[in-house]
Amino acid sequence: MSKALQGNLGRLMSIQEIGKRVPRQFRDKRAGKISDYFGVSTFGYRRMKERLPEKVYEKLRKTISHGERIDSSIAVEVASAVKDWAVENGATHFCHWFQPQTGLTAEKHDAFLTLNEDGQPIEKLSASQLIQSEPDASSFPSGGMRSTFEARGYTAWDPSSPMFLMEGPNGSTLCIPSVFISYHGHALDQKTPLLRSMEILNQKTLAVLRLFGNQTATRVVPTVGPEQEYFLIDKAFYLLRPDLQFSGRTLTGSRPPKGQELEDHYFGSIESRVLAFMQECEYELFKLGIPVKTRHNEVAPGQFECAPIFEEANVAADHNQMMMEIFRRVAGLHNFALLLHEKPFAGVNGSGKHNNWSLQDSDGNNLLEPGSTPEQNLQFLVVLCAVLKAVHKRAGLLRAVIASSGNDHRLGANEAPPAIISVFIGKQLSEILDSIESGRVKGETTEQNIISLGIAKLPEIAQDYTDRNRTSPFAFTGNKFEFRAVGSSSSISWPITVLNASVAEALQEMHDSISKQTQNGSDLLKASMNVIRESIIETKAIRFEGNNYSDEWRIEAERRGLPNLRKTPEALAWLVRPESTEFFQKMGILGPEENEARYHVKLERYLKDVEIEVELLKDIAYTAILPAACKQQSLLAESLKSYLDVARATGIPAQSVNLQARALDNVTSLIGSLLERLSDLERQITDASRIESLMERSHIYAYQVMTGCNAVREVCDKLEEVVDDQMWPLPKYHEMLFMG
Ligand code: ADP
Ligand code: MG
Repeated sequence: MSKALQGNLGRLMSIQEIGKRVPRQFRDKRAGKISDYFGVSTFGYRRMKERLPEKVYEKLRKTISHGERIDSSIAVEVASAVKDWAVENGATHFCHWFQPQTGLTAEKHDAFLTLNEDGQPIEKLSASQLIQSEPDASSFPSGGMRSTFEARGYTAWDPSSPMFLMEGPNGSTLCIPSVFISYHGHALDQKTPLLRSMEILNQKTLAVLRLFGNQTATRVVPTVGPEQEYFLIDKAFYLLRPDLQFSGRTLTGSRPPKGQELEDHYFGSIESRVLAFMQECEYELFKLGIPVKTRHNEVAPGQFECAPIFEEANVAADHNQMMMEIFRRVAGLHNFALLLHEKPFAGVNGSGKHNNWSLQDSDGNNLLEPGSTPEQNLQFLVVLCAVLKAVHKRAGLLRAVIASSGNDHRLGANEAPPAIISVFIGKQLSEILDSIESGRVKGETTEQNIISLGIAKLPEIAQDYTDRNRTSPFAFTGNKFEFRAVGSSSSISWPITVLNASVAEALQEMHDSISKQTQNGSDLLKASMNVIRESIIETKAIRFEGNNYSDEWRIEAERRGLPNLRKTPEALAWLVRPESTEFFQKMGILGPEENEARYHVKLERYLKDVEIEVELLKDIAYTAILPAACKQQSLLAESLKSYLDVARATGIPAQSVNLQARALDNVTSLIGSLLERLSDLERQITDASRIESLMERSHIYAYQVMTGCNAVREVCDKLEEVVDDQMWPLPKYHEMLFMG
């Protein structure tokens, strides 16, 4: 049976079956209130306290809350306690769970099983097995950091993120969140730079808090709440679309007759099959201690969102990875395919991952929340301005860290933030910053002056934050910033790492300027006001309150000198500019070699993604669409011929022969253009393959080959509109996107 016929038959059968699919009933009868089972599959504080000697527990708790290194003397007891807990809860194996630069997670399982001296089987987890492991890591991307003759990367336990049980169909595995480092101590993963950035940010922010008289806070952490968008389609459709399976997005597909124009999906009632999926995901996530809070339909048909309660950045990053994995797995159980790609369907909205970000001290204060005294409000303004400075100075890098082939289709597509990074802070806050800038506080900065500026009203302003700008890539939303340009499939670690480090750099600068002035006899209020004012002036170019989708903004941004890095290759090039390399080194995030390696991994990944897409498109066009088009051509030709035969035999005038001939001509000329455009595309690919430099080749792919692909797609989509529906070999947009 031919591939197209198989596909076609499968499609017909599955459409019938899809209609009959019922929501999956999964619910564990024992599950009661969420609070009863929240976190049961994690070795968190409660379980540690129950199972560890008090002294050991206290040491471990301190290690975690202060972000310190683990004291190896307690590892024996922790290992034994966590092993007992895991085994009692059905675990047979353990693994170091880490995040290589694939964007996914990795794990290599070992059984707890050991044979003791008498050859008897026992369950064991030694301290060293808990703390460190050596996966055979030679196949993970390292950007050349680790040549294969010396493939020994190792993983090391990160106690700041709780260990957890990952349930499998026939037993559980204890997962130990870990960093992944080369033999020489180079970061090979996503977590290590994130932890480094959190440490430097902690130091620099604490110094600022001390300036403002805070002596009680012992630590400051970035908090992150990532809102995850995704699509769900029936699995049968997914299996019939090789493009979705292997590249994550549809490479052809004509827009549905009804798209998202009616906006009836957004916040609409959730279809029961989808709700059943969401509920099962939430059940699994709650057991893992992941506090998912919000669920709703998104703008596009078939698109949804899930948002957790914010957590400390590295825990939020781990949890987001776990969430994506659980979603994928549970989707399969519900006969859905989960699409995390940034732009699975052309012409309908893509998916992002809004990263809500703030800073919180160990006393629980949100540092982007204005306070009640002038000092507190000045401190708030310092932190706010530090974020403005960070985004202003590191705009190119913040664009670089969200770059991927998927996000290229989303950024700047009039539905998502553009590739130009700017900050939105809202009208009222802008007015305050403007009046500070205009120098109305020249002379003495008395308390009275501060009040007259409206700074004392900050708390009310922050509470009433209805002023929203959905087009901004980076927006202040009352007591946090929202980095909206992050792609839906990407790990949040890298974007948050660079944001943390950039803010740390800015806070240090501001701290140093303020303390220099106070050392010279200026009072704190006046000194901070001066520095705030300087920062407002310095960062003016990055603030934009208007429509980020407009053409005027592109022109205006260029005038302001803001980088507009349209596609991944240009964005990635920014990573290895001398000032970027120097920045990463200065802030202790990545050494020059580590940075160079990371750049290579990203660039190679980009090229692989686009090369795979091009091959898939060619394959689909030649082996599925062209044959269908040719059949349509024969169909029209044959019907025209019999029409003429009948007319001739009966003497009835063949009035619509011209119209039928035109329909045949249309298909014929589309087939011609398809073949022509495919051969142009092939020529472009051959030319590109001769280019050795990865960066140059990426540029050619981004700007020429992708244009060639769009040209091929255009004809494919036109053919979809004229070929017999029964013969069309691929599920169509309207079939995939509308489940109800
Ligand atoms: P939206 O209207 O943008 O959907 P929500 O109120 O639903 O906003 O919140 C979005 C996310 O912001 C949630 O994940 C929430 O936990 C997170 N969030 C709230 N406060 C903070 C904070 N201080 N730091 C980080 N994230 C936060
Ligand atoms: Mg939001």
